[in-house]
Amino acid sequence: MSLHRSKTRLGSILERAEAGTPLSEAEIVRLLSIVQGGERDALFAAARRVRTKHTGNRVFLYGFVYLSTYCRNDCHFCFYRKSNLQSLRYRKTHADVVGVAQILAESGVHLIDLTMGEDPVYFDKNRFEGLADLVGSVTEATDLPVMISPGLVDDGVLALLKGSGASWFACYQETHDRALFQKIRPGQDFEARLEAKRTAKRVGLLTEEGMLSGLGESHADVARNLVAMGQLDTDQVRVMSFVPQTGTPLWNTPPGDPAEEVKIIAIMRLLFPDRLIPASLDIGGLGGLKDRLDAGANVITSLVPPGEGLSGVAQTSLDIDDARRTVASVEPVLRDCGLTSATKAEYRRWVENRMDQNLGA
Ligand code: SF4
Repeated sequence: MSLHRSKTRLGSILERAEAGTPLSEAEIVRLLSIVQGGERDALFAAARRVRTKHTGNRVFLYGFVYLSTYCRNDCHFCFYRKSNLQSLRYRKTHADVVGVAQILAESGVHLIDLTMGEDPVYFDKNRFEGLADLVGSVTEATDLPVMISPGLVDDGVLALLKGSGASWFACYQETHDRALFQKIRPGQDFEARLEAKRTAKRVGLLTEEGMLSGLGESHADVARNLVAMGQLDTDQVRVMSFVPQTGTPLWNTPPGDPAEEVKIIAIMRLLFPDRLIPASLDIGGLGGLKDRLDAGANVITSLVPPGEGLSGVAQTSLDIDDARRTVASVEPVLRDCGLTSATKAEYRRWVENRMDQNLGA
């Protein structure tokens, strides 16, 4: 294929994507094959135009509270897997979590993201009343929507969490390739994890799905992942680069390429134009934020207050205690990208509109 024909074809894919036409797997693979500057610029510019159409220049900010690093599972990519003796373990008290959430709310975040491993304290007896109380207390103390990432919980627990005031349920497959899933999440049930997201949606929660990038997958594998994520129809979609973790089976695996992650963000923006797509501070820290926003992200996740003894997920300490994961630290980057943080009311409106749309679907 001549360079001219290849360029024309890219132009037509981007035009159709911007017009809202669903792309085929082959077209997604074509976008994933972009390496060269001009094509990359065209992809990212299209992604930014689509973002502007749906959320203007507004960006939502998520405060992150990793409340327990204990987990019953043994995911190969995760620092907090149960058999990692080098993992930092802590379990924050109810009062600690509410206190940190208040600090985050006062700093100007729009949502509190309560994340945890599948902590045996809750999972051994399937008793989640304490977690539901915590969601209720955080909701009341901050007057903000709460996202909960408890791991794989059953229908009753999802209803309990919704009843306690949770707005969001985040639960990531990380891959839609079943063989790879079994390899990186040994002993876990692929279908049950998918079904939990469908159930969460049925009980009225917004849902987030996510994939890891950089585990040796081909562009065709990534394209299939993206198509499967679209079929799940979640409200927020995220991609994060694989980061090798000390003490895990994948420690010697090379890290994912952040440039691929950023390109996938741009493609996600074209495929899921009206959804929320995060730029996470958990991979490249503050230094990696601009690239992710320039690719069309409209949420900044993993804002963590310094000095509270809290960890990140993929980067356990990066930029936390030097206060580079705060609202104040991201504001200049937003300005540099021609963006601004939304108001609390704007985020609340987005959440309520989306819940209404899901109810009507
Ligand atoms: S990814 Fe989640 S479920 Fe898996 S080991 Fe880590 S904390 Fe546990």
